Amino acid sequence: MLYKSPKSVYHTKSMLGGFFISMTEKNLLFKGQDLQLMVTTTFCKPAIQLSADILRVNLYKNAGNPPCLNEILLQWYKTQSLQYLRQRTAFWAKKIGVSFCNLTIKDQHTRWGSCSSLHNLNFNWRIIMAPEPIIDYLVIHEVSHLVHLNHSAHFWQLVSHHDPKYQEHKHWLAQNGRRLFQILPKYSSRRRRSI
Ligand SMILES: [Zn+2]
Repeated sequence: MLYKSPKSVYHTKSMLGGFFISMTEKNLLFKGQDLQLMVTTTFCKPAIQLSADILRVNLYKNAGNPPCLNEILLQWYKTQSLQYLRQRTAFWAKKIGVSFCNLTIKDQHTRWGSCSSLHNLNFNWRIIMAPEPIIDYLVIHEVSHLVHLNHSAHFWQLVSHHDPKYQEHKHWLAQNGRRLFQILPKYSSRRRRSI
C-alpha cells in the first residue's frame, strides 16, 4: 500500500511459448493500490489491461524503434485519470449544485488541481494513483472553488460539509504527494503535452 517505503526495482525475463514475458516492478500505484506490471512482447497488437492488481502490457514486436513502455503507461494513466475524474467531478458538481465548463488533465510538476473564473477545472493526472477518498477530496476542493474562488472560511466550510475528513485527506496529500511525483517521473516522457 501507499504507506510502505519504495521497494527496489527488479526485472526478470522468461521465455514462454516463444514470447518474452517480463515481470517488472516499477512501484506503480492506481487508486491507492500497488500494481504488478506484466509486460509481453509479441506480434499481436499493442494492448494494456488492468485485471485485479496486475497491469498487463503487450508491446508490439517489430524490428523498428523499440516501444517506449513509460510512454504507454503514461498515456494509460492519463486516460484512466480523465475518465475517473470526469465521473467524480460530475457527481460532486451535481451534489454541490454547480456546473463547470471544461475539465482538463494536466501533467504539472507540483499542482494537483486548479479552478478558473471561467469555470474550467484542471487536475493533475497523478491523483489517480492516490486512494479514492483523497481523489474525492481534491475534486470537492476544486468544485467548491466554483462557489468560492478563494480559500476563505466559507470555502473551507463547504469543503468540510462534503468531506468531513478533509483535513486528514489534505494532510495525506501533503505527506505522500512527493512519492506520487516519483512514479513515472515527468522527465522520462518523450512528449510533455497534456491531454
Ligand atoms: Zn484551492
